[in-house]
Amino acid sequence: MSQAKKALNRKNGRGAARASSQAKTYYNYIGGEWVRASSGEFFENFNPADTRDVVGRFPVSTKEDVDRAVAAAREAFDRWRRTPAPRRAEILFRLGNILIEKKDRLAREMTREMGKVLKETGGDVQEAIDCTFYTAGEGRRLHGFTTPAEMPNKFAMCVRQPVGLCGLITPWNFPMAIPSWKLIPALVCGNTVVIKPAEDTPLSSINLVKACEEAGVPAGVVNIVTGYGETAGAAITANPDLRLISFTGSTETGRVVASACAERNAICSLEMGGKNAIIILDDADIDLAIEGAIWGAFGTSGQRCTASSRLIVHKKVYKKFVQKLVERARGLRVGDGADAKTEMGPVINADAVHKIMGYIEVGQREDGARLACGGNRLTKGEHAHGYFIEPTVFADCAPSMRIAQEEIFGPVTSVIPANSLEEAIEITNGVRYGLSAAVYTQDVNRAFHAMNETYTGIFYVNSSTIGAEVHLPFGGTKATGNGHREAGTQVLDIFSEWKSVYIDYSGRLQRAQIDEVKLGE
Ligand code: NAD
Repeated sequence: MSQAKKALNRKNGRGAARASSQAKTYYNYIGGEWVRASSGEFFENFNPADTRDVVGRFPVSTKEDVDRAVAAAREAFDRWRRTPAPRRAEILFRLGNILIEKKDRLAREMTREMGKVLKETGGDVQEAIDCTFYTAGEGRRLHGFTTPAEMPNKFAMCVRQPVGLCGLITPWNFPMAIPSWKLIPALVCGNTVVIKPAEDTPLSSINLVKACEEAGVPAGVVNIVTGYGETAGAAITANPDLRLISFTGSTETGRVVASACAERNAICSLEMGGKNAIIILDDADIDLAIEGAIWGAFGTSGQRCTASSRLIVHKKVYKKFVQKLVERARGLRVGDGADAKTEMGPVINADAVHKIMGYIEVGQREDGARLACGGNRLTKGEHAHGYFIEPTVFADCAPSMRIAQEEIFGPVTSVIPANSLEEAIEITNGVRYGLSAAVYTQDVNRAFHAMNETYTGIFYVNSSTIGAEVHLPFGGTKATGNGHREAGTQVLDIFSEWKSVYIDYSGRLQRAQIDEVKLGE
């Protein structure tokens, strides 16, 4: 099957009508020009709430397009890296203001493209705005440090230098926020980039690049090529001129990306999957915990790396918690995210429906958990042309069940009973991922103990597993990451390299570790 056809089937369920001729056509942005892919082919992108609605036609890019984009990034690199960082940042501040002006339209286009409700797509754009302003501020910092040298009349310091040309590969669930987490620090550090957005959400990333163009980012500094992971994405990971690959996506794809980078000694930062847990203790404010669980499990239809897909509940409050949770989950209004009344939108595409429904079956048959609510695909009335699945709660789950171990990435959560905080912590840590965890308790001692003992990159007290802010580092342990952190100032360590500088003003040869230095010399 051709790649274009494959993508069509992914998003456009069988029998859906298509109106490609009326759809707007978008292009790659290479060296400051909006250009077709060398293949001349386009793929269509559909609204997951109604697949009759074609969002646009996007270039099917190949290695040739990626190589051209990389050449443009190379051409622009020296001028950009020599532009003083505060000047680079001024352009980024303009970008932030442009995103503010366009926020409403960008959020609407994002909801149409990937389904999450308008409040959440507004949040996605806001995250890009916050990231832009916060990180652009680094243009006047990008701190290095000085330190004493071991020889007299010698000065020692460390400065940050750009890495070079960077390939940015991004997923579809935060289609503007995640590209911005990579793009803005890359630019402020003086790198040039080629972005390959997810095939389900090229428009939101193109919108970000258009805003860069409008803000005055010079030609070639930011390039975008749309297309498929196996071709355009793989061409990015293989290109010898891309010194750094920054990837966010599934752990499975991350492994492929990491191997390709290892082959050619490229720097590789990976942000991958999660199986996050909320611990609800017997002294918790149950109503507050229910709000956190509903938001964490069903926000973005459960399609977040930080989704609360496990709820570990103390046995003393277990029955009450499950009852209230099911009541709230049943009442959630599922529909088109563009409708202000909708609380949960569709899932992204036909593949996602297949995968999530498969897990619901596994939960019922193989795992033997109790399906407490949901479990069905919605196919009638307003749901007839989209990818809607009911908010689904499995109760009485054992920690080892597949639904309690694997990333489902859909509106499905597993409730697991626990006898104590210690047991809950053990269950929390008993998965291969380590992104986010939370505890609900009124006891500060238990809260700190849980914070200390959970092996994740992010931890919340009396709040859901979701809610990261851009000025704190973001990322996870174990199969979630490979040791890097995005956001905060920590992201600068991905997009810059340290140079240690020694200035000897003694006027003689001084040999570190060898020459003896006399007191007071
Ligand atoms: P995915 O792994 O399918 O795709 C991610 C990107 O990789 C896409 O742009 C895709 O085209 C590209 N890709 C696919 N195959 C490739 C290849 N062989 N070489 C190079 N690139 C390739 O992920 P997705 O479905 O878009 O996103 C969902 C996943 O992302 C979930 O697992 C989720 O947990 C994870 N995620 C993680 C974070 C985080 O910060 N930890 C944030 C958001 C999403």
